[in-house]
Amino acid sequence: MGQSWPRDRYEKMADAVAKLYVKALKDMPPDVRIALDKAVQRETVPVGKTILGTIQRNIGAADREDLLICQDTGTPVYFVQMGEYCNANPVAIERAIRQGTEEATASHPLRSSVVSPITRQNNQTNTGYRVPVIHWEFIEDRDDVEIVVVPKGSGSENMTYFRMLLPADGVKGIKRFVVESVIGSGGNPCPPVIVGVGIGGSSDLCMLLAKKAIIRPCGEANPDPEVAHLETDLLQAINASGLGPMGLGGINTALAVHVEHAATHISQNPVAVNIQCWAARRGRLIIDADDNFVLGF
Ligand code: SF4
Repeated sequence: MGQSWPRDRYEKMADAVAKLYVKALKDMPPDVRIALDKAVQRETVPVGKTILGTIQRNIGAADREDLLICQDTGTPVYFVQMGEYCNANPVAIERAIRQGTEEATASHPLRSSVVSPITRQNNQTNTGYRVPVIHWEFIEDRDDVEIVVVPKGSGSENMTYFRMLLPADGVKGIKRFVVESVIGSGGNPCPPVIVGVGIGGSSDLCMLLAKKAIIRPCGEANPDPEVAHLETDLLQAINASGLGPMGLGGINTALAVHVEHAATHISQNPVAVNIQCWAARRGRLIIDADDNFVLGF
């Protein structure tokens, strides 16, 4: 176990999180750019091709003019991985994440999309009670901290689904639920989308797995061959629907389907769907044991 982190490292972290949040809102990850390029090349329906071209021009304009990719700054969701040999203080990390989110919102300035669910009051910070959402994982054999931010746009987050299927429904029932959920969402989540699917666990873990699935680089297969096969089947079934870009027709409804799974109870078969829009924004900050701060995707 190394030395405890010095206090000024958390201040530096808050500044880095502010940069991370703005970068995620402005700079599309390369894997999503490649997936969109491939989608526009293979699209056969003229209206679908036109929409994909417009999406690409939108991304180009954001690059050239240093603008946000989409006006919806979303709900800030962070996934933090902390190595078992990292001697940081998780409470101080949470404080730095909140501070960085607020700093970015005030200094950019960014639209604040976060309100109280009761009064609908917006304190213009993009934070609030229990927000930003922060999910933790503790990782063996590492000594760094990795923070992934997903500014989760509302059009896609509103299209979130969960069902406790019966074990007898099997994988067939899971497939039907996922495909019907995506098709039933129509153009609301701004297709072409990345479909995050959680299978198994308890109801809360299943929902978290579906959200975790959308942060995987677009199109990267699950390492388990059986799960990867399910991802391919689901992608084909969704794209065969003809829903297409923005729900106006085409063969590109989804850019990818990512499945994350966990063991579950003998009498349960939980499945969750969390959809990510074409503006699949994501940013990654790694802070290593030598005090290097590395921003990426
Ligand atoms: S769903 Fe995504 S692309 Fe659509 S408005 Fe919201 S953030 Fe923008």
